[in-house]
Amino acid sequence: MSAESLSTTPRTTLHRLRERARTDRADLHAVLEAGLVCHLGVVIDGVPVVLPTGYGRIGDTLYLHGSSANRSLLTAAGQQVCVTVTLLDGLVCARAVFHHSMNYRSAVIFGTARLVTDAAEKLAALRAVTDHLVPGRWAHVREPNRKELAATAVLAVPLDEASVKVRAGAPKDEDEDYDSGIWAGVLPAALTFGAAEPDPALTGEVPVPAHIAALAGRARGTAPIT
Ligand SMILES: Cc1cc2nc3c(=O)[nH]c(=O)nc-3n(C[C@H](O)[C@H](O)[C@H](O)COP(=O)(O)OP(=O)(O)OC[C@H]3O[C@@H](n4cnc5c(N)ncnc54)[C@H](O)[C@@H]3O)c2cc1C
Repeated sequence: MSAESLSTTPRTTLHRLRERARTDRADLHAVLEAGLVCHLGVVIDGVPVVLPTGYGRIGDTLYLHGSSANRSLLTAAGQQVCVTVTLLDGLVCARAVFHHSMNYRSAVIFGTARLVTDAAEKLAALRAVTDHLVPGRWAHVREPNRKELAATAVLAVPLDEASVKVRAGAPKDEDEDYDSGIWAGVLPAALTFGAAEPDPALTGEVPVPAHIAALAGRARGTAPIT
């Protein structure tokens, strides 16, 4: 399998609705690019715990960050973890309750997590996380100082073993239901940013920077994978 394809290991092989699988690495990158929030699954004291966090990507490494007291990040270090990213593209309303669904793009990543200790990698990872959320933000703001870096934990997860699943399009109903007269269709969904709200504590005239204006009032990551 080429480096451009996603791994198909026993645990990344879709069993249900296999035709929804996407096997190009570019599709994984596209889902990660469009998403903002991932869910980190880690076993803590024998219990599977799933927590949402922000993330960034550099090449084929996913970076998650949090407080250096963050229990799930610290526990994950050296452990097998599962990270998911989900994009909701629409609510699929079928003629039958059974066939209701959602349009989505989602990624599931398995790997051994690594706590980032190298200072340069940690800084690059924090930049990736920051600029993934708000492109251009890192260059605009004060970088973390030593104390802030010490208070921040960064976890690296390799993108070696991952799957991508996509549902798009109209509902699929039973043949006998198509003439039922029941409305069916898709309600598209997307994450949309509102107008920028300046901090009331801003002092003096501080214009909204271009990288904020570029996001305000816009939908995020709506381009579907075909
Ligand atoms: C927004 C959203 C809503 C959903 N709602 C439902 C729902 O209400 N009910 C329901 O049954 N399913 C829902 N799904 C689909 C669900 O995520 C699973 O794909 C499905 O339930 C099959 O589960 P399984 O354990 O049989 O997967 P299997 O096919 O056995 O999973 C095997 C492997 O395939 C990969 N895989 C499975 N699902 C996904 C995925 N979604 N994205 C990427 N890789 C995947 C993983 O690597 C996994 O380890 C939803 C998905 C999304 C993104």
